[in-house]
Amino acid sequence: MKVKILSNREVAPEYFKLSFSATKELLKGRPGQFLMIRGDWGSDPFLRRPFSIYRCRKEDESVEILYRVVGRGTRLLSRLSAGDILDVLGPLGNGFPVFTNKGNLLLVSGGVGIAPLISLAESVGSGISLIAGGKTKHDVSYIADDVEELCIDVKYVTEDGSMGQKGTSVSVMREMVTPNDTVCACGPFGMLVEVQKLSVEIGFSAYVSCEEKMGCGVGLCFGCVVSGVDGEYLLVCKDGPVFDVQELSWDRNS
Ligand SMILES: Cc1cc2nc3c(=O)[nH]c(=O)nc-3n(C[C@H](O)[C@H](O)[C@H](O)COP(=O)(O)OP(=O)(O)OC[C@H]3O[C@@H](n4cnc5c(N)ncnc54)[C@H](O)[C@@H]3O)c2cc1C
Repeated sequence: MKVKILSNREVAPEYFKLSFSATKELLKGRPGQFLMIRGDWGSDPFLRRPFSIYRCRKEDESVEILYRVVGRGTRLLSRLSAGDILDVLGPLGNGFPVFTNKGNLLLVSGGVGIAPLISLAESVGSGISLIAGGKTKHDVSYIADDVEELCIDVKYVTEDGSMGQKGTSVSVMREMVTPNDTVCACGPFGMLVEVQKLSVEIGFSAYVSCEEKMGCGVGLCFGCVVSGVDGEYLLVCKDGPVFDVQELSWDRNS
């Protein structure tokens, strides 16, 4: 479907928040679901790119994504401005489960993996904890205002110590997590592997949102296959992107 961009702001070097007018269908998007998006930029790149829903604003009928410029598609996206048209497919995939016991919910992000977790935090409400990690403060500081609005307990962590605690999201998680917690995580592949190892060691349950390279987003191209624990193939776009971490076999995926 075609939608109109409302704003496309650079919130930190290479990080952008893009908001667009949303149809009723798009506003049904749940935390962890994603959208396939491309601008009107000709045929290169041809395929839409996947982005998590960052915020659904039902009151002003808009949806926001948060993205980092990493290649040609995201570079072209960053050059679009208010009034330009986007081609959007979605909401797609399976999001996070609906949590009834929010007291034990711990959200853990690495870099731009924060996007689906802010959406989850917004839907669950106050009383949960978030560990937001990045390499430097450049990778996390731009979310501080949005996080403050959510009234949740937040810990920032950076690898160089330039914001919050020095370390990684997983090293801080190890200090905090208990077997009664449910962890929801999104970030680089290596981080998700560590979350799975810790979940086995400590005994908490965990859901991870995977960011595999993706072609079609609807289960046709088999570009985003990951291995399940029983050797079966799972598609990030249709079976995920959110998985119970115990369903995945990282040995086969690495
Ligand atoms: C379900 C899902 C949700 C996502 N949500 C977000 C989001 O909210 N915000 C955001 O910034 N990004 C998100 N991504 C990643 C985003 O889709 C890619 O960064 C984007 O497609 C890159 O397009 P490009 O043309 O700029 O880069 P390309 O030119 O295609 O690639 C540039 C570099 O990025 C790497 N790359 C490409 N696609 C991915 C990917 N899917 N995951 C990791 N590395 C990749 C390539 O290996 C290459 O090194 C998500 C991915 C998935 C699958």
